[in-house]
Amino acid sequence: MVHKAGFVSIVGNPNVGKSTLSNLLIGERLSIITEKAQTTRHKIFGIVNEKDYQIIFSDTPGVLEPAYKLQESMLKFSKSALNDADIIMFITDTVEKPGKNEHFINEVGALNIPILLVINKIDLTTQESLENLIIFWKQLLPSAEIFPVSALKKFNTDSIFKRILELIPLSPPYFDKDALTDKPERFFVSEIIREKILLYYQKEIPYSTEVEIEEFKESSDRVDIRAIIHVARDSQKGIIIGHQGKALKKLGTEARKDIEKFLAKKVYLQLFVKVSKDWRNKDKLLKGFGY
Ligand code: GDP
Ligand code: MG
Repeated sequence: MVHKAGFVSIVGNPNVGKSTLSNLLIGERLSIITEKAQTTRHKIFGIVNEKDYQIIFSDTPGVLEPAYKLQESMLKFSKSALNDADIIMFITDTVEKPGKNEHFINEVGALNIPILLVINKIDLTTQESLENLIIFWKQLLPSAEIFPVSALKKFNTDSIFKRILELIPLSPPYFDKDALTDKPERFFVSEIIREKILLYYQKEIPYSTEVEIEEFKESSDRVDIRAIIHVARDSQKGIIIGHQGKALKKLGTEARKDIEKFLAKKVYLQLFVKVSKDWRNKDKLLKGFGY
């Protein structure tokens, strides 16, 4: 039997719809981790398996100018995604100023692999502005094939998938044919907790926080999880815990509900808060967190 397999890297600026689109192409299972801009700090593979093909999508952190070391490493993930790919899906939309991050666009344009330029959110524009946008992008990235779509309305997204299938090379599968992702369950558990932190805390708190799963013990009827929430400063610890521990309790309850849904099992979740001074700038700590 002829088998095809390949890597598709999804790149683009924050908020253009990368996660919405990749959920559509990969399936909803991974959606829990990609709901907010900058939720995606790591490179995550989502794998689509059929009898005669395996497509490995990577949804990467949005392209941005690094302001601190964590972001530098996020940017590195985006750049490495370019080098490993068989196909690049460069996502833009009808809202952002076209052509921003010119440096990155030039890097993409210089690659010797197929580039699918997806113009998302066409539901928000007129035919005329869309045509102008297409002309603009054709000049900027002449080697790209352009796909105007609406990920939200599921309009024209099938054509991207079809084209990907044509373009991926003949190859045996890279991963087990029943794998959905390259990341273990505990990774998704930490992402669920982090998602709740993004939801319930303001300003710099979510971006100063890292979640470490210290224990993940599965028995027949339940999973025991101990997670440490690392913050960068003393004052942030108090904010996470909240008055009489109420904020942390709410965080724990809401996270537990989603983790139970994800693991389809009863979960006993313990959360601890720890000050790891200035972790975002410390190589050793970052390394320990997997960056
Ligand atoms: P990412 O940061 O690139 O991963 O972007 P997301 O997938 O998180 O989407 C950012 C926002 O754009 C979300 O509020 C989405 O619901 C919205 N969005 C995504 N695709 C479309 C689309 O086709 N049309 C419209 N109107 N909104 C969209
Ligand atoms: Mg995203």
